[in-house]
Order: sequence, then C-alpha cells, then structure tokens
Amino acid sequence: MVISQLVRETAKRLSENPLFEAEQMVMAVCNLDRTELVLKGRNEASEEEKEKVNDMVLRRLKGEPLQYIIGECEFMSLKFYTERGVLIPRSDTETLVEKILDFTDENKEYKVLDICTGTGCIGISIANYRKKAEVKLLDISDIAINLAKRNIILNNVNDRVFAEKEDILKDYPKDKYDIIVSNPPYIESDVIDTLQVEVKDYEPHLALDGGKDGLIFYRRIADIAPKMLNVGGILAFEIGYNQGSKVLEIMKKSFYNIQIIKDLCGNDRVVIGIRR
Ligand code: GLN
Repeated sequence: MVISQLVRETAKRLSENPLFEAEQMVMAVCNLDRTELVLKGRNEASEEEKEKVNDMVLRRLKGEPLQYIIGECEFMSLKFYTERGVLIPRSDTETLVEKILDFTDENKEYKVLDICTGTGCIGISIANYRKKAEVKLLDISDIAINLAKRNIILNNVNDRVFAEKEDILKDYPKDKYDIIVSNPPYIESDVIDTLQVEVKDYEPHLALDGGKDGLIFYRRIADIAPKMLNVGGILAFEIGYNQGSKVLEIMKKSFYNIQIIKDLCGNDRVVIGIRR
C-alpha cells in the first residue's frame, strides 16, 4: 500500500477530523512533514509503518487524544512535545499569550513568571515572540518540568527560559517580575467526572482540579503575586467561561484596570490586571 492510500484508509476508520488526524498519524510514523507527505505519496509504506499507524488508530478509537498519540501539537504556530501526565495546550490559551503580546513591546526587557506551566507553552511562546524576555516556568509535576525542559530546547530559547519544580500553594519565588501569567487548574472538583472521555480519562486531574469552587489557585496566586511583581507589573490568568467576575473580585484588592477578555468563541477567557 502506498502512503497516500494509507492516509485514505486510515481516515475511513476515524471519526473526528478523519483526514487531518490520519495525515498527522502517517506523518508522525513515516517521519514526514506536510510537503513530504504530498511529494512521497506514491512511495510504498512498510509493514512496520502500517502496523504503527494501526496501533495509533486503535488508541484513538478508545478516546485517547491525538496529541498524546503522536506526541506533539501546535500552539501559537510553534511546535510543542506533549505527553501523558501533562495537559495538552489548548487554542483557547492562545488568547492569554496574545494579550501579553499586546501589553508588551518587542524591544523591551521583561522578567516573566509562568505558574503551573505544564508543557511550558505559555512562557515559551512569550519568549519566542518577545526576544528580550527572560522567563521562569514553574510546575509541581516532575513530568511537566521535564517536558517543559524539552520544549525549551525544541524552541531554541534555552538561553532565556528556565523550568523549575515548585508547589505554588506552599511556596513562591523570592525574585521580582514584570509579568506573571498562569493557566492554573480551574475546574470544580465535582465537575471533572462530567467532562468528555478524552479529558477525564486521559488528561491529568492534577492539571484540571481547582478545588471545590475551582478558584484555589486564583486566590493563592493573587495573594502572592503582589510580593513578586514590580509596581505596574501585570498579572494575567486564563479562566473558565463562568469565572470572570469571581476572579476579578479576587484580584481587586491588589490590582487595578482589571479587564475580562473573551476568546474567539466569545467566552470569557482571560483576566488581566496591573499591580497597585
Ligand atoms: N499552563 C499550561 C497550559 O496552558 C498547563 C495548564 C494546567 O496544567 N492547568 O497548557
């Protein structure tokens, strides 16, 4: 069977974005980029390659997210490695990065802290688009920190981005920053079991669970952020669609000019404020 045929046959077995997912699987297995997939469409696929694609399809049909199966994804037009145990970067989260880019200037230096960094997608993207930013990534999970370190190297920002393990509910860095960003766990504990199979059965609950009311991390970070931010520094959170007014209320004590920003679907997605 030739490669283009393998893509078509694989697509027939898949249900969500079948052609896209089939192409992604074949590209990963045969080690091809999009152009090569077209150019080498008439090359024969080996038995081993067909077998590997078949295994991927079986995993996908059980509900495992494509990004864990192929081990990578795209975020802010950059490539990130993904791995079980670490939340998959979401396109919604690009709203948070875009907002930080709006607030910053290409030619200025910034010290940035990304709390609950996961893959590192937020902090690494900021470093990529703001070449003078120095970024620290924090996460409680060893798997996340190791993955974030691989993503730092993948994106060639290892001179300015550093990843460290930290339990932010217990401790915090003693350095000063200009910008603190976080997409923390924010789902209410009781809601997690109602989420789709891809999320509740495959993604780490540690990265999702924001406690009984979903707000534990917002309270904690809004409380410690003023100690780490220079005056006029920025705190920006990703939030759930129904958390805007609650997080705004939490931030009021130490922040002003607080804005709630919507994502491309029209849901409240980011809250950003300036330290008093
Ligand atoms: N900050 C990471 C992301 O946006 C991880 C978020 C999390 O683990 N809650 O993907």
